[in-house]
Amino acid sequence: MELERQIEEAATYIARARKLVAFSGAGVSAESGIPTFRDPGGLWDRFDPLELGGGDIFTSIFSGARVPQAAVDFVSEMVAVLERARPNPGHYALGELERMGILRTVITQNIDNLHREAGNTKVIEVHGNIFRMACMICGNRIMLEREELFAMGRELVEMLRAGNIQGIVRVASKCRCGGVCRPDVVGFGEPVQEMPRAISEAQSADVLLILGTSGMVYPAAYIPEYAKRAKARLVEINATGCYFQDLVEVGMVGKSGELLPRILERVKYLRSYSVF
Ligand code: NAD
Repeated sequence: MELERQIEEAATYIARARKLVAFSGAGVSAESGIPTFRDPGGLWDRFDPLELGGGDIFTSIFSGARVPQAAVDFVSEMVAVLERARPNPGHYALGELERMGILRTVITQNIDNLHREAGNTKVIEVHGNIFRMACMICGNRIMLEREELFAMGRELVEMLRAGNIQGIVRVASKCRCGGVCRPDVVGFGEPVQEMPRAISEAQSADVLLILGTSGMVYPAAYIPEYAKRAKARLVEINATGCYFQDLVEVGMVGKSGELLPRILERVKYLRSYSVF
C-alpha cells in the first residue's frame, strides 16, 4: 500500500514538473546484467578497487605496459558483460519521459551508454562513456559503434592474455594522429567530466529523480544537494534503501526497472486527465 502511495506521489510530481532531471547510478543498469560496484557480488567484492579503480590502469593497459593478471580478468569480464547488456524497462521509461517533453536531462555516473540506446538524447556522463575513445597524445575523442567497440574489446582481451604488447598498441592506435587511445572513462583520482553543466542542470530542475546510486562517489554525489538547495522536489528509487533520506520528498525501495514503468503509466494517466 505504501509503495502504491509513493508511486502516485512520484507520478504527480513528475506529471506537474516544468523541468524533470534524472540522476542515475550503476543500479539503473543492474537489471541489464551489469553488476554494480558495491552490492554483494558486485565488482568491488571480487576485484580490488585500489588496484583496478584508478584511471592509470586504463592508461597502462592501452599503452601496452605490463599489468597484473587481475586487470586482465577485470577487462575480460567487463567486455563480456557490457557486450551482452541492453537497456531495460527503466531505461526505456526515461526515454519515453524525454519524448513526452517532461524529462530534460539525464545526468549519469554510468559509462555503459544504455541511456542513449534507450532514446535519451540529452545525457551528461560525468564519469565518461566506454563507447568513446580518447587519444592519449592529442586528446581527440572518437565515438565507436557497438560492433566496432566490442570487436576491439575482444581482440584486446586476446592480446592481453597472450601478453602481446605490440598487438595491444596496434589495436589501440585509433586516432588520426596515429596516437594510442584509451576508453574515455573516469577512474578514481581523475577529474570528472562536464560537472559544471551537470550542476547547472540540477539547479534548474524543479523535480530530480535519483536512481540506483549509493551516493558514495564524489563529486557526482553532490548533485541531489545542488537540486535541493535550488528548491527542487526529489524522488529517489533504490533497490536496497534510501541513501538521500534527508533530502528526498519520496524515497522508494525497489528496482528502477520495475518502478519507473509503473510511474510512467501513472504520469501518462494524470497528463491525459488533467491540466498539468
Ligand atoms: P554503486 O554500485 O555504489 O551503487 C549502486 C546502487 O544501486 C546501490 O545502492 C544499490 O542498492 C542500487 N541498486 C542495485 N540494483 C538496483 C536496481 N535494480 N534498481 C535500483 N537500484 C538498484 O553505484 P554508483 O552509486 O553509481 O557509484 C559507482 C560508480 O561506479 C559510478 O560512478 C559508476 O561510474 C561506476 N559504475 C558504472 C556502471 C555502469 O556503467 N553500468 C556499473 C558499475 C559501476
